[in-house]
Amino acid sequence: MRIVVLTGGIGGARFLLGVRAYARAVGAEVTAVVNVGDDLRLHGLRVCPDLDSVMYTLGGGADPERGWGRVDESWTVKAELATYGAEPSWFGLGDRDIATHLVRTTMLDAGYPLHQVTEALATRWQPGVRLLPATDDRLETHAVTEIEGARRAIHFQEWWVRHRAQLPTHRFVFVGAETAKPAPGVTEAIGAADVLLVAPSNPVVSIAPILAVPGLREAVIDGPARVVGVSPIIGGAPVRGMADRCLAVAGVECSAAGVGGLYGSRATGGLLDGWLVAEEDADTLVPDVTVRAVPLWMTDEAATTAMVRAAVELM
Ligand code: GDP
Ligand code: CA
Repeated sequence: MRIVVLTGGIGGARFLLGVRAYARAVGAEVTAVVNVGDDLRLHGLRVCPDLDSVMYTLGGGADPERGWGRVDESWTVKAELATYGAEPSWFGLGDRDIATHLVRTTMLDAGYPLHQVTEALATRWQPGVRLLPATDDRLETHAVTEIEGARRAIHFQEWWVRHRAQLPTHRFVFVGAETAKPAPGVTEAIGAADVLLVAPSNPVVSIAPILAVPGLREAVIDGPARVVGVSPIIGGAPVRGMADRCLAVAGVECSAAGVGGLYGSRATGGLLDGWLVAEEDADTLVPDVTVRAVPLWMTDEAATTAMVRAAVELM
């Protein structure tokens, strides 16, 4: 069996721990197609927050408390940068993490595309699933905000980390999406999937930027035998993070039904055949989509694996 997962960072990474365990149990192979809309250059370094969250989590090197970055991290470089007054100071890069960004940036500057760089980094981390960026090209999520009476588009990370998602915001735009191409292997993997899982990632700023790469939405609609999504919203609230702020910007109700409706049915040009929701949301209806309710708390790997099994076997 071939499983493809569309995923963002922290929520998607935890979900992938369960996907990997399920795949090992049934002998399936897994490809994760990872959002790059959060990527940014900081102090000359290319940082890929979602790829790194997935790689560190599956490789056993993530900080379990923070959910992002490296375990046993130290912050000497950050402190030194601060003494220079070097901006931006709102994004923390740990010392161990910086090594990853140095290797990545050196390879990118030498001309390697991001998917090859990702593969090279994964030789160290052995994530046990194939990691592919959605695209090798620049595709950045920006928030169109209102700051001191003026309309300004700022990078998603500045909106999320610096402003804590609290600015009046009109919409998100995916800069570069029109001309981005799927990274090699992405369309093929989606087309050959027996089941494509939409991770319980942020629908608006993790999943939508993947689908903004021309051709990928079509590949999902046409290719896999089955497409099943997992709700990141339980009982009307995101489990962690500020997905509710992003959904509000997109004009989508913060509920399992709201997100299911946003994705829509594959029968009518949307994404989903199946939609896995939490037991709290058992009454969720999405037109032309098979909905099933199971526990959706990713408290540990066993619980997450059970969730993945329910998603794969939903229909
Ligand atoms: P990010 O890129 O680091 O923001 O991470 P993702 O977009 O992949 O995932 C963020 C989403 O994961 C949030 O909207 C959370 O609601 C969701 N999430 C986190 N933990 C859980 C969980 O235990 N169960 C479910 N269903 N969703 C979760
Ligand atoms: Ca992210």
